[in-house]
Amino acid sequence: MSSPAHVHSGEAVCPYCGVGCRTWVEAEDNRIVRVKGVADAAANLGRICPKGATLWRVVDTPDRLRTPLWRASRGAEFKRLSWANAVRTAAQRLAEIRARHGPDSIAFYGSGQLDTETAYLICKLFKGHLGTNNTDSNSRLCMSSAVAAYTAALGSDGPPTSYDDIRHARTILITGSNMADAHPVTFDFVRQRDAPETTLIVIDPRRTKTAEAADLHLPLRCGSDLALFHALAKLSLSQADQGFIERHTTGFEPYLAFLHGLDLNACIRETGLAHEAVERAAKLLHGGPLLTFYCMGTNQSSEGVRKNLAIINLHLMLGQIGKPGAGPFSLTGQPNAMGGREAGLLAHQLPGYRLTDNAAHRRESEEYWHLPGGSISPRRGLTAVEMFRALEQGRLKAIWIAATNPAASLPDLHQVRRAFDRAELVIVQDCYHPTDTSVRADLLLPVAQWAEKEWTSTNSERTVSFSARIVDPVGEALPDCEIVRRVAVALGAPGFTYSSRDAIWDEFRKLTAGRPCDMSGMSAERLRRVRMLQWPCPDADHPGTLRRYTDKCFATPDGRARFHLTPASQPMERTDHEFPLTLTTGRLAAHWHTRTRTGNVPSFNRLAPHPTLQLHPTDAEARGIADGDLILAFNRRGSVRIAAEVTTATPPGTVFGTFHWGDLFEKECNINYLTHSALDPVSWQPEFKYAAVEVRGLRPS
Ligand code: SF4
Repeated sequence: MSSPAHVHSGEAVCPYCGVGCRTWVEAEDNRIVRVKGVADAAANLGRICPKGATLWRVVDTPDRLRTPLWRASRGAEFKRLSWANAVRTAAQRLAEIRARHGPDSIAFYGSGQLDTETAYLICKLFKGHLGTNNTDSNSRLCMSSAVAAYTAALGSDGPPTSYDDIRHARTILITGSNMADAHPVTFDFVRQRDAPETTLIVIDPRRTKTAEAADLHLPLRCGSDLALFHALAKLSLSQADQGFIERHTTGFEPYLAFLHGLDLNACIRETGLAHEAVERAAKLLHGGPLLTFYCMGTNQSSEGVRKNLAIINLHLMLGQIGKPGAGPFSLTGQPNAMGGREAGLLAHQLPGYRLTDNAAHRRESEEYWHLPGGSISPRRGLTAVEMFRALEQGRLKAIWIAATNPAASLPDLHQVRRAFDRAELVIVQDCYHPTDTSVRADLLLPVAQWAEKEWTSTNSERTVSFSARIVDPVGEALPDCEIVRRVAVALGAPGFTYSSRDAIWDEFRKLTAGRPCDMSGMSAERLRRVRMLQWPCPDADHPGTLRRYTDKCFATPDGRARFHLTPASQPMERTDHEFPLTLTTGRLAAHWHTRTRTGNVPSFNRLAPHPTLQLHPTDAEARGIADGDLILAFNRRGSVRIAAEVTTATPPGTVFGTFHWGDLFEKECNINYLTHSALDPVSWQPEFKYAAVEVRGLRPS
């Protein structure tokens, strides 16, 4: 007679998007059997989307990396290694390369999927002990423009708003986000907004599911976001909140002069929209509390920071910030992109929203870590795209990659592949193998997943959550932070002999005391007990902060928010007679990032089995292409063979591809062979959203 199954359960944050849904995970005999939403979690109030609900399928999969693997040369087979040997190998190789070529010859490239504890340890190890600021994360690809704009305008990264603002808003503006597909649970709250008089405006060149739910859809021309925001601002001048502007902002006079210098008709012409539609949108902006959601559509641009600043300028001019239902609300793509930045993972950051180019911030971090003055370099480290350029050029020799798949997700992939070929050492730390990146590694380190470890994360609305370990990790997988800790100890770095994960968290959160993202009141013990709290939370009795800047005191030195001038420029690559179509990229509801996880879910593969390139019927007809035909899309950087999806959802002159398919899943289909790696000069975020391409039919697929 078989013994009854051992049933156990607990709460963990969903490891996909930045909504940060809390899930209730049920397991039997160490296997997850059910995942549900947690009713009292503000992020989801009991809901989860199909990705969250199918998480039980993605844990014990055939492609889980179960043991450390090593190979002496790239063409050789991987061989199994003990953890002790794997950690020794990683430490020895990094130390050798650093000794030969200097501290800036090594780098860490992580992800918004890493927990805060890991991001903190990486920052402490690389920036504190190894003397290089070369740590960055794929949040650089996702929202670094939002980070730079928040910091420039409000004095601090981190949104002022909460999901609770959805029910107070009277106008909700969504720009640069297909929220219905990418942040589905938050979009459900928008769709089912309590107040029927709340208006939804969606700005998007494409007729997405989000746009279809709008009261007003503005299908602007790709790349004309600034022109539209300038037009909206000019049409809103009579509604400017003079009292708020005078008491709580600086820089309005030059901003006003800048707006006066722009021609309204020329701005509207640039967008390709009807004058009446823009005027109607402007009127709707003045109907009460204004909440603006935005994401990669505004961020992934060589003028991404200015696009973000234009949104914030509008909110400042209308006094729409620091009160219920109002504020600029950047959506986070990953479960802990926020926490990674709080812990200092990006190349210009130190923990607690400190900056590497700030002498006082460096000194505070050095003293906290008991390091001699001058240990932390004042030089900004290499950012994501720069790392792979430096690898190709031989300036960077070794890269340690964790929880991301740059061989599929970076722009201009042929360049990225050349960079991998030139790297002396590639360490990949991941749950899954093979991935497009892991097949290019020398050393593979297996990682415990979301429900297999205890971890802390921060979601889009600043909620810091503790996630419980519900099942044992598969094989020999270890939590990311334990792997980093062991490598740090093997490198001889002092200060890495923590008694537990709680000790890492407590060391980090105390370092945030007095900073804008103050989490010092969130001890590990308290977070275990209450499960989630919103920062700032400066002491043990503080209830957390639903909404920032309610006192209208901003995080700038003088407490005033700053207007910025936002002149429009052109995308770095323009369409021409040779490449007349604009390529833009985005997500599907059924998949996430490069499908390393969602590719294991049969229902998602049935829903979206292959990548497609969407194009308008007029562009298809002009090229003799029918729906479903195999086509070649090409430009100066590369080409892809992909099925055509002929649809009026994508406007004439524009083609749309998703970034979910790497070469391992589908040969020659990765849209990033075509995307452009031009960077915003302030945020160093690449311009994924605009490239010039041409397409032609091959044969019916
Ligand atoms: Fe997970 Fe995002 Fe879906 Fe919530 S909305 S269940 S966080 S993928």
